[in-house]
Amino acid sequence: MTAVNQVAQQENLLEVRDLVKHFPIRQGIIFSKQVGAVQAVDGVSFDILKGETLGLVGESGCGKTTVGRLILRLLEPTSGNIIFDGKNIPQLPKDEMRELRKEIQIIFQDPYGSLNPRMTVGDIIGEPLYIHKLARGAEREKRVREILETVGLSAFHARRFPHEFSGGQRQRIGIARALAVNPRLIIADEPVSALDVSIQAQVINLLQDLQEEFGLTYLFIAHDLSVVKHISDRVAVMYLGKIVELTDKEELYRNPKHPYTQALLSAIPEADPTIKKERIILKGDVPSPINPPSGCRFHTRCPKVMDICRVQEPEFVDTGDGHYVACHLVPAAGAEKN
Ligand code: SF4
Repeated sequence: MTAVNQVAQQENLLEVRDLVKHFPIRQGIIFSKQVGAVQAVDGVSFDILKGETLGLVGESGCGKTTVGRLILRLLEPTSGNIIFDGKNIPQLPKDEMRELRKEIQIIFQDPYGSLNPRMTVGDIIGEPLYIHKLARGAEREKRVREILETVGLSAFHARRFPHEFSGGQRQRIGIARALAVNPRLIIADEPVSALDVSIQAQVINLLQDLQEEFGLTYLFIAHDLSVVKHISDRVAVMYLGKIVELTDKEELYRNPKHPYTQALLSAIPEADPTIKKERIILKGDVPSPINPPSGCRFHTRCPKVMDICRVQEPEFVDTGDGHYVACHLVPAAGAEKN
């Protein structure tokens, strides 16, 4: 497959190719044998350009969080490649992977659950500096104070414990911890989903300011297209283990081509009350990834389903100007002219 939605002038920081993660289902206690697999991620390809934010969006269970964990190698893929700065992550020896972990950090959805309640904030932020042998003693304390101020907290917060902070402040601590080792790529896994709406905007603005200041690249994972609208440069939409649409943010919100993206966008309330839009209600629940539907995986819920959709899987093709879609209704750029 050629580079997915690559912008010629910009360099890739990350290339994900044909990534597959199937979790085996086993039965039997002594002679356990595999009786099936959860097809969490099934042939996903995308690039992340240096300095951009790629939004990865889909309903819960679509595989987006698994993609993030595969990039961090918290999970081993079933197959596929994840090339970060020329290195194929799944094939890296352990010591090289340890080195690379400095470059890729994660911000979790639940800022409280991800912070050790028995450690002071100073120790939480300073721990990665210690692990990666980047700073010790007074140097480490100085760096922690600087990072706290960078994320909008104060130096004296270093002596406090996570339970003494609000949800928004705790997410700032999570961001500070990720920033401590000067990463190049940050995987933000639903970083604002657990926060009040009023706090969400503050955290998103902080992430944008940090991106500008430190030249960071983000994979921003969310279940809602309205959350990624503000921060993303490009957006990929996932459904049941596959990316079904990927393009520039403006293009996606102005001209969604996949029926699933159209349905997700129709659910976002319009700020202007004079604009009337028709809500597309999807029938049924997301099918099980253990036994996904044949052909197009969305066919059991698609309002535009045709006979071919039930038997033939649509290819993920460039429909023009790097707008990638997997749907039989949307032809590839070249095919359109024939
Ligand atoms: Fe709907 Fe068919 Fe397109 Fe799938 S391929 S999204 S079922 S029209």
